[in-house]
Amino acid sequence: MARKILLIEDEEKIARFTELELVHEGYEVTKAFNGREGLELAEKGGFDLVLLDVMLPELNGLEVLRRLRRSSQVPVIMLTARDAVMDKVSGLDAGADDYITKPFAIEELLARIRVAFKKQDGVRQQTHRMTVCGVTVDTDRHEVTCQGETIELTNREYGLIRTLMVNKNIVMNREKLLNDVCGYDYLGETNIIDVYVRYIRSKIDDRFGIKLIHTVRGAGYVIKDET
Ligand code: CA
Repeated sequence: MARKILLIEDEEKIARFTELELVHEGYEVTKAFNGREGLELAEKGGFDLVLLDVMLPELNGLEVLRRLRRSSQVPVIMLTARDAVMDKVSGLDAGADDYITKPFAIEELLARIRVAFKKQDGVRQQTHRMTVCGVTVDTDRHEVTCQGETIELTNREYGLIRTLMVNKNIVMNREKLLNDVCGYDYLGETNIIDVYVRYIRSKIDDRFGIKLIHTVRGAGYVIKDET
């Protein structure tokens, strides 16, 4: 069955050209020309991926993404017009899976789409619920609970816990974690990971009196099965 892509892009020329290329690759494409219409369609669901322009009339791309993430974890690739770091960071913070800077080569976009689908398939194949130390990550519901209580986490904190759970008992270095959590093109320092770990510890470890994420000096972080 063809994968369904929702393309939210107000520039008709770009939208039409991109649609043609995607259809040529065997994808099914639905277009929306403003943020409001795009959000409505995306919220209805049924798409395997959303391509989301940042500069959109009625509702900008970041706002569309923020609202969409309340109910959906569909992979989203942002199309940013400028090479603005702020756009990327806010997009990834708001829960985008990737971004591409316009103007882009269609081959690059197709490659990003394949990566997003691969990642999605990988997540699907993994157990949907993983539990360590009484902490459960539910990848279907995009939710972390501890001793039955839901933990409020940002997208990146969630991503970090999920990556460590999926790679349970494997020490993950900061670079690997940064790639998984923030995307390959993230320009910041790897010590941002330490900051996220601190946040997670204050939200889970300190509150529930457990030790979830272990620091391995000079190597990185690991979530271990109880021994
Ligand atoms: Ca635009």
